[in-house]
Amino acid sequence: MGDTYKGKLLRLNLTDQRAQEEEVPLDVVRDFIGGAGTGIKYLFDEVRAGADPLGPENKLMFSVGPFTGTPIPCASRMSVLGKSPLTNAVGLSLTGGYFPVEMKKAGYDLLLIEGKADKPSYVVIKDGEVRFRSAAKVWGTQTTDCQQIIKDDLHDQNFRIACIGPAGENLCRIACVINERRAAGRKGLGAIMGSKNLKAVAIRGSGKAFIASKEKLHAAMSDMVKAMKASPVLFPVFAKYGTSRGVNNHSSKGIFPAKNWTATGEFAPVDRVGMEARQSHKIGQTRCAGCPVSCGQLTLAKTGRYAGILSEGPEYETIYSYGGQTGVDNLDSIIAADRLSDELGLDTMSAGVAIGFAMELFERGILTTRDTGGLELRFGNHEAMIELIQKMAFREGLGEVLADGVRIAAERIGKGTEKYAMHVKGLELPAYDVRGAYAHGVNYATSFTGADHNRGYAIQEIFGVAVPHPADRFGTEKKGGLTKWNQDVRAATCDSAPMCAFVLDTALAPVALKNTAALMEAVTGLSYAPEDVMKAGERINNVARAFNVREGFGRAEDTLPERVMTEPLKAGPSKGHCISREDLDVMLDEYYSARGWDLKSGKPTRAKLAELNLAYVADELGV
Ligand code: SF4
Repeated sequence: MGDTYKGKLLRLNLTDQRAQEEEVPLDVVRDFIGGAGTGIKYLFDEVRAGADPLGPENKLMFSVGPFTGTPIPCASRMSVLGKSPLTNAVGLSLTGGYFPVEMKKAGYDLLLIEGKADKPSYVVIKDGEVRFRSAAKVWGTQTTDCQQIIKDDLHDQNFRIACIGPAGENLCRIACVINERRAAGRKGLGAIMGSKNLKAVAIRGSGKAFIASKEKLHAAMSDMVKAMKASPVLFPVFAKYGTSRGVNNHSSKGIFPAKNWTATGEFAPVDRVGMEARQSHKIGQTRCAGCPVSCGQLTLAKTGRYAGILSEGPEYETIYSYGGQTGVDNLDSIIAADRLSDELGLDTMSAGVAIGFAMELFERGILTTRDTGGLELRFGNHEAMIELIQKMAFREGLGEVLADGVRIAAERIGKGTEKYAMHVKGLELPAYDVRGAYAHGVNYATSFTGADHNRGYAIQEIFGVAVPHPADRFGTEKKGGLTKWNQDVRAATCDSAPMCAFVLDTALAPVALKNTAALMEAVTGLSYAPEDVMKAGERINNVARAFNVREGFGRAEDTLPERVMTEPLKAGPSKGHCISREDLDVMLDEYYSARGWDLKSGKPTRAKLAELNLAYVADELGV
């Protein structure tokens, strides 16, 4: 056994162009692991209550974990964090590609960016050296051009770059951060970069990740690889089709949402946009660094005005947002919309939900061609969809109304349109109609980032994984405890260690706690047991909840859109089901009990926080 892990943070102050290295204390690594966990702790500690998410007082973080850059497969994952301009809650989005490993090679676990540059800038980090440079040449560019121009400027094609497109510069609250063609898509984190006049971060390193015991690492990795190879799904299906298999699986359960959640089960265009259809457009595969799965799918649009447009995707969530949600079944247009959104730096999920929302309003006569600039904004009109994406990124016409997500759009439009706005805490709903997946619904309601499938994905309901126990997807029983389990395991393993969530879902769920503990011990040199992994996940969820409580969130905000609670599904395998207000209350009571939180307010209790070594958080909340 060698030394123990030494996490390193690079604090970048854009206001006075200062860079300073700090150590991430070992007890923070032990308690929060890294990635999202460490980022959430710094967010709670450093961003004061009520801070303007688009003001210089907000902070932006890029955070990787102890596993990143080691030989552990599927660990090139990075959390991007800040106070979300879309929700005013914790903003957390994950991305992959090669940037995370490069960041570790440059020596850093966490880049913590604060202040605001006085003019458009980008930051260059090469091992320990930091430069702040003018972004005059790249401000206004799309994301592919931006990355190429910066590499050319630096005379080094090996830099890895995370940047924003015009949507982030224009402070769209649904703007994302793009590295290569991967997106930290959700919660409007691209707008935080734009608000700081930060176009990009370019990074390059030559170091190596710390490993405390190569022998232990070898043994733990061999168990992990065995579990990956034994999965009947990971290599045989997921590696071939990627996330598009979701269209088929979820349609077969009647939970592929359609037409702003009015036609789930009725509109199910599996043959036109599902896994085989996307396969017929595939021209290659891509992967994150060190991943043997290579789930990224390069697809080429083939027909009409879209012919020749290449995209890395569209992923399942984008097929939902630019397909099911908008009633579009033209796959070429979805490929084009995916590529355009990545170039403009717009979150495909929130943008698609916003367009579907506007389409419903148009179909209902609440919006007319006078509001849409002449666009016939009916469900299925892919040409109008493409035009609206462009308009949102540049805040033009109806695009200005929709550019900050559906909650704000409904406030701007008025006329009772909030009931058609499909969001929780301001975050647009992901691609699972939870009227046919109740625990997934509890997760949408309680996730600290708003309606987020990634925080507590109910693999039991959606893929039939019987860990920690099987679940009836229409029942309320045990769904609170199950949601807690899903949220805590995911927070510790996928989001913080980190480890790709797709690998957890398809192969590692039964061994995730044991395997993560063994890998943690091998990499960090800390003594780590499966219970410690679970505790870390619980701790992360409690600090994130505390951040939100401090911002004014409580039980009242843990809810679902009215449509989900009052309109049973009209067709398909989940026909007749919805999550009623009573169902949700039963599941929330059980959830808060399982969490040890106050049932009435939904606040963490002092006893629970003290048990998690978080007495200072209880003091801050005054509980
Ligand atoms: S499975 Fe896909 S998303 Fe996950 S690490 Fe591999 S390439 Fe990246």
